[in-house]
Amino acid sequence: MNEKKQLRIAIQKSGRLYDDSIRMLRECGIELNNGLQRLKAEAYNFPLEVFFLRDDDIPEYVAGGVADIGIVGENVLVETQADVQTVQRLGFGKCRLCIAIPKGKKYSGVEDFEGKRIATTYVNVLEQFLKKRKVKAEIHEISGSVEIAPGIGLADAICDIVSSGSTLFTNGLKEVETVMKSEAVLIANKNLKSADMKIIERLLFRIQAVQQAKRNKYVLLNAPNDKLDLITAMIPGMKSPTILPLAKKGWSSVHSVIEEDRFWEIIEELKKLGAQGILVVPIEKMVV
Ligand code: ATP
Ligand code: ZN
Repeated sequence: MNEKKQLRIAIQKSGRLYDDSIRMLRECGIELNNGLQRLKAEAYNFPLEVFFLRDDDIPEYVAGGVADIGIVGENVLVETQADVQTVQRLGFGKCRLCIAIPKGKKYSGVEDFEGKRIATTYVNVLEQFLKKRKVKAEIHEISGSVEIAPGIGLADAICDIVSSGSTLFTNGLKEVETVMKSEAVLIANKNLKSADMKIIERLLFRIQAVQQAKRNKYVLLNAPNDKLDLITAMIPGMKSPTILPLAKKGWSSVHSVIEEDRFWEIIEELKKLGAQGILVVPIEKMVV
């Protein structure tokens, strides 16, 4: 028997998840020998083989063991109901699945859809949503250009992916319900061997270091020594801030890490405490 040394990952061949999936691998230090063949690629510095597939097929291929892991939108995962495990949320491919109706129509609640026709590609997701709300509607499965369905009299409403809402707007529709929020996730086969699990753990370690880095900034500032305690308490960093004396007496340079989410709030406080010359630098990788 061949001993498998590589983990097989399925990613979208082309489309909205392709660029971000490749970028994520690159940020994890994984370089692909993309070659001329676009069906498969190998990483030459990590035990990974990449299969390029249609996103709709990825959950089933991972469930069936054709690939060990895959990157797919949660919307597709829920729709296909594939028996896989989600191992990591990836923070890209963010969108939502919404129900939209013609702009001019009045809307008073989800019960309005009772007995109405809704066109969608996401039959299962929509069915689950309506069932939970005890609404019985007629679901029409269509595979593309869902947004034109009401305009041509095919449906009273649509359920489709929205990111900015501009496609809805140009088709004379307005969003009335959010059915699910979605982002790209890393899924894995449920029966992986321990050798595969080890490679996944290495990959997850890198993905998390990249995600952590994106959520944080490196900050350098000058602080009057009599305010050092207060300032360092504001920016505790990973273990504790670095404090270096400045050539100018009575002042120190403080280096630390702060979270992007609280960034402005913290900077304002630091300024109030007398911090000066604040520099903020992006972090590429962060291992806590
Ligand atoms: P494929 O040819 O692989 O079947 P597709 O046309 O079904 O591709 P894409 O439009 O490329 O799919 O979208 C892939 C995934 O990207 C979606 O399932 C969704 O999770 C995510 N996504 C993020 N933003 C958007 C958006 N604005 N519109 C559509 N999908 C989006
Ligand atoms: Zn698709």
